[in-house]
Amino acid sequence: MANVPVQRMSQLMAKTLRDDPADAEVLSHKLLVRAGYVRRTAAGIWSWLPLGKRVLANVERIVREEMDAIGAQEVLLPALLPREPYEATGRWDEYGQELFRLQDRKGGDYLLGPTHEEIFTLLVKDQASSYKDLPVILYQIQHKYRDEARPRAGILRGREFLMKDSYSFDTEDEGLARSYALHRQAYQKIFARLGLDYRICAATAGAMGGSKSEEFLAPAEAGEDTFADCPNCDFAANTEAVTYELKSVDATDVPAAEDIPTPDTPTIETLAASLGVPASATLKNLLVKVDGEIVAVGVPGDREVDLDKVEAHFAPAVVELVTEADFAARPDLVRGYVGPQGLDKVTYIADPRVAPGTSWITGANKAGTHTKNVVAGRDFEVGAYVDVVVVQEGDPCPKCGTGLVLDRAIEIGHIFQLGRKYTDALKLDVLGQNGKPVRVTMGSYGVGVSRAVAALAEQTADDKGLCWPKEVAPADVHVVAAGKALQTELALDISGKLAAAGVRVLVDDRPGVSPGVKFTDSELIGVPQILVAGRRAADGVVELKDRRTGEREELTVEEAVARLT
Ligand code: ATP
Ligand code: MG
Ligand code: MG
Ligand code: MG
Repeated sequence: MANVPVQRMSQLMAKTLRDDPADAEVLSHKLLVRAGYVRRTAAGIWSWLPLGKRVLANVERIVREEMDAIGAQEVLLPALLPREPYEATGRWDEYGQELFRLQDRKGGDYLLGPTHEEIFTLLVKDQASSYKDLPVILYQIQHKYRDEARPRAGILRGREFLMKDSYSFDTEDEGLARSYALHRQAYQKIFARLGLDYRICAATAGAMGGSKSEEFLAPAEAGEDTFADCPNCDFAANTEAVTYELKSVDATDVPAAEDIPTPDTPTIETLAASLGVPASATLKNLLVKVDGEIVAVGVPGDREVDLDKVEAHFAPAVVELVTEADFAARPDLVRGYVGPQGLDKVTYIADPRVAPGTSWITGANKAGTHTKNVVAGRDFEVGAYVDVVVVQEGDPCPKCGTGLVLDRAIEIGHIFQLGRKYTDALKLDVLGQNGKPVRVTMGSYGVGVSRAVAALAEQTADDKGLCWPKEVAPADVHVVAAGKALQTELALDISGKLAAAGVRVLVDDRPGVSPGVKFTDSELIGVPQILVAGRRAADGVVELKDRRTGEREELTVEEAVARLT
């Protein structure tokens, strides 16, 4: 093995901290800052210091190797993107407040890519002309930008974060299914190699048919997703996906689909401003009262509504905003009419009990419930009544009937059979075998690379600090010089020997730092093996400690080197 440089802590551009950062709420945030892996640059924007960068690079390497193994080709597309393609797919508007939009000196509109379906579709449109050029899987490991509403979980939810995103292009549905299956397998390998405990969860209402999407969720307290897990069989689903149970109900007072207003454009701010109320996070899922009666114009998540159409629809009534609290006070609003827009866009759900035929509520119509990832027409018939049912702990598993358990988890990966949504919008065809153009079908697949670092920290840390699995650790061995010149000399000597054999060494050679502080720091930093040159250094005896189990063993220098190489 090749000689690798020894990282000396006396020269390391990172300081360990005794105290948790004041704004840290989750364990990974506290530990990664305290151990000197990352520094906060601005809200949701992070700098990676040498140790952190090594861990990040290790995660990247594993992801890269497994993507290459399924024949995916790595590219690097820009993060600064023109508006037009996102305009063409509707996402320039639909993405809402999460999208970082900016202008150049000439007033041209740009965005910072939150995800790259459009740009990859255009790349393939530019490069591929025949079915012979497909299938193809392309990927990049690159920064993504999302103006997250609450970037409070440290590296877990950045506004700038590192993602591996890949995109598959096939001419046939079976091809897409194959590309999807390849990704699923690659992700299983990636997360196993990373040492993450994870579940594969249905992410859309797959049971109701339609295209397929699964999330890789890493169980952890700090997670912001809730998933339903069956203790008896392999069923696991994000509660976002099992929130909907669709029942046909008689539809006597259902308005006709064409009577439902089609909203698009203004933002939550413009809506709020025009109604003279502050636009705040609590205005999510806002409703509108008309003459004191809730008739509701909702904004599911950060979506947008067309206020002109809303006002035109309700004129001449007085329109006034009510908040989610009003919503929560109306637990009866659970049955609705699903409009043609699809629940993942702006959707109107009318509750005939409010004012038959003309009253609308939209989005989450039960407190804490969000109609994400459900698409009208795909997951249920447009125009059907649906009952929204929230999964509770103990509800029967849809597969085997056993009581479900609800757990918190971190979404570390997401795979999606997109179909032709983007290729339709951007008109991506290739010439088929019969000489006629074929519309390409597409999948998109993400791994949260920076988030995986934090998820690993969450899952593996103990009360002493970080505790990295071998493949991602910033070093293989942390050598501690616990004493004076003699110990330092021995520590550096062993470090050199280990490095010569290809072992990655971090050596604590800081002068004037007590052995106690060095031991505490070695536990905080979390390298899997700790080798101490201490009391018996003069005899050429060192102590090898396993960071996870705490087991220690005295060895001669030769034994230690032999053991670690
Ligand atoms: P979340 O539900 O946590 O907001 P998402 O569903 O919006 O994530 P995707 O669009 O599916 O995210 O992106 C693919 C992957 O990128 C996610 O599975 C996650 O691992 C990672 N990711 C998404 N948002 C962030 C973020 N703000 N910071 C770090 N990683 C993120
Ligand atoms: Mg998100
Ligand atoms: Mg998600
Ligand atoms: Mg996702």
